[in-house]
Amino acid sequence: MDTRFGPKRRTLPCFTAVSTNMLVLLAATALLPHQARAAEWPSAYIRALPDDAFAAIETAPGGRRLRHLPHHDHTGALDPPHLRSALARWHQVKWRDPAAAAAARAHLDAHRSALRAASGRAGGEADGTTGP
Ligand SMILES: [Zn+2]
Repeated sequence: MDTRFGPKRRTLPCFTAVSTNMLVLLAATALLPHQARAAEWPSAYIRALPDDAFAAIETAPGGRRLRHLPHHDHTGALDPPHLRSALARWHQVKWRDPAAAAAARAHLDAHRSALRAASGRAGGEADGTTGP
């Protein structure tokens, strides 16, 4: 298990877009005694996410859909802590199709590059690139 991630710092980027149900879910989540870290999503929340929230979707032989590496929240917004988690867990996924694995990796890497570029423009962490 990866324990590098600290508490989620940016919890509600657009408060008005969060439904009452989501607030109840967040409140209930905060009360769970076994919650390992703030960035972790409950499995019920992950099951309710749209397909677009995942890096890849594969189909098992029985027809069951396997959705891998959620990293967008229910609004479709990128969730940086879950992006980091998805990148860290990519190699742990039991991929059925190498092409799906490669596409998922490229998708996650593109998000990471965009985030780094954005943080560079904002004067955040230096990553070796020069901003405008
Ligand atoms: Zn994505």
